[in-house]
Amino acid sequence: MATTDELAERISRKVIGEYSKLKAVCRPVTRPTGIREWTILAGVAAIDRDVSVDDIKVLSIATGVKALPDSELQRSGGKLLHDCHAEILALRGANTVFLNRIKNWDLTNGDDLIESNNEIPPKFKLKDKWKLALYISRLPCGDASMDFLNDNCRSDDDFLEIDDNDIFQYVNSNVKTILRGRLNFNRKNVVRTKPGRYDSNITLSKSCSDKLLMRQLSSILNSLNSALFAQPVFLRYIVIPGLDDKTRHTLEQSFHNRLPSCSHRFEFLNCDTPFYDDKKNENSVPSLMCSTKLFMDDSTIEEAILNGMKNGFYTKPCKPLRKHCESHLSRFAQWELFTQIRPEYKDTSYLQFKSQQTERDRLITSIKNVLSPDGWIPTKTDDVK
Ligand SMILES: [Zn+2]
Repeated sequence: MATTDELAERISRKVIGEYSKLKAVCRPVTRPTGIREWTILAGVAAIDRDVSVDDIKVLSIATGVKALPDSELQRSGGKLLHDCHAEILALRGANTVFLNRIKNWDLTNGDDLIESNNEIPPKFKLKDKWKLALYISRLPCGDASMDFLNDNCRSDDDFLEIDDNDIFQYVNSNVKTILRGRLNFNRKNVVRTKPGRYDSNITLSKSCSDKLLMRQLSSILNSLNSALFAQPVFLRYIVIPGLDDKTRHTLEQSFHNRLPSCSHRFEFLNCDTPFYDDKKNENSVPSLMCSTKLFMDDSTIEEAILNGMKNGFYTKPCKPLRKHCESHLSRFAQWELFTQIRPEYKDTSYLQFKSQQTERDRLITSIKNVLSPDGWIPTKTDDVK
């Protein structure tokens, strides 16, 4: 019988194998100055529960270490990706894959990943034979990795001396349970925004530790898929290279203790193979380019993403966005797929629809209240009309 470590190794090989097939523009490069770029890789994979069947199906992969400043979301209209950290893109990708498979659903042929019930319109579920894993080539940013900041992931700003009374560490001094990036890195059990330079415009996207933790309780389905699925879909495993007992213990502390007990706790698995485009030396720099590849039922979509939109479509923040600049992972593209599946929502805006998902809304609000008792600081409102 395959051990979980062997399983983790197979998942990582499969995700890295798909990464190796991406077009060169989607991967880090050596700049003309000779400086090498690095990135983080993530992927969502479905694994057959029957261990005798060696079947791992990749749903989505993504790379990226960037997030947009909140000030740039003004012109978005659902088209810009706020958060391009690899694991968040990979989960968005899995949601686009589910939406696409439901849009193309036909009862006669079915689908190898999902099945429908007899309701009209039908509701969907992940087939019982599958369990899901998320591969990430590094520890997620934020609470779960604060003990392991080393020269490979800290910038000079992270060494700033901050004491507990310094309001510089807060996005809003009235909300002392949300910290900026890695400031005051000794504080645990707090929500953090994505790390970034402190002299640049702030992103209000929350760290990957916080976002993954929320999905541990609320499922990986976004509001659109939650309305289409009869049951939530949870991740079973998170696979990370080079986990030892200490890192695994810290991850478990962060993911199992920050929220009330939950029956869908992630299991953290170690794989030995490192990701070959991670940071290897002091001089290398994070890649500005992010990327994704989606594995639909009969096709794949590959995108290079820069500044939250498809590569090649960039316009300065003071200009309007160009037509078709949006990624397949964007709110705009996902809403378009959803309204093709449920045309009755064509005259509704994305946020109007979302506000009608009261049960999910209540669950997410209750999670936010536990994670940040002082209140929540949302990113800028970004609707699709
Ligand atoms: Zn992150």
